[in-house]
Amino acid sequence: MMERPAAAGDPCPAWCRITHGTLQGEEDRLHLGVTVYVRETPVRLCMTAAHGSTPSDGPYVIVGEREFTLDEADALSAVVARLVEAGSAVSPRAGAAAHSRGR
Ligand SMILES: [Zn+2]
Repeated sequence: MMERPAAAGDPCPAWCRITHGTLQGEEDRLHLGVTVYVRETPVRLCMTAAHGSTPSDGPYVIVGEREFTLDEADALSAVVARLVEAGSAVSPRAGAAAHSRGR
């Protein structure tokens, strides 16, 4: 039985960088965004395409080996931003002066 490529009945989101139809089975039903590395940690968007009676799932933000819902990723980024702000008050980041110079 032929697997239907994700793109056949489920258009790719704008951020998907997969060329569907070139991968086998479930891999072809994944929409994957570009991978951005923060040091050695890969970060990207991912969701499964609808398949038959199975609805699409996601999108999720993948951070390293962990998968976060959009709400969880939003909460994580807010916490990280607060920690960076608190930490910067004690020890300004390298490049912080150059970063704010353009205003
Ligand atoms: Zn796609």
